[in-house]
Amino acid sequence: MTRSPTQLDWARAQARAASHFAWPEVRSAHESADPHVAHLAADVARVEHESEARACPTCGCAPASLVWVSIGTSDASWTQGDERCGWLTLCARCMAQVDFFLDTDMVNERRRGNW
Ligand SMILES: [Zn+2]
Repeated sequence: MTRSPTQLDWARAQARAASHFAWPEVRSAHESADPHVAHLAADVARVEHESEARACPTCGCAPASLVWVSIGTSDASWTQGDERCGWLTLCARCMAQVDFFLDTDMVNERRRGNW
């Protein structure tokens, strides 16, 4: 089975609230991800967070059908103690940021300089 990358309408996203991350950050995280690795990692994240993940509040799209983007704040934020990285769920239909799940393992790895 081949899965084509979900097409996201970034121009439309600009009109939406950037509730968790700025849209340019979301776009760059999504576009820089290796599609094969990203799909596998996203499957793991979906299972891990399925009990907390919400459906899109606008169209009701189920969490499993949302786009899961692995994302972290910029390098600068890490020296300011404002670091966050984890999983952002996006509704491709509404271009809405639904949930963000902090990945504490990922944060700790990055603090140790393993990124
Ligand atoms: Zn939606």
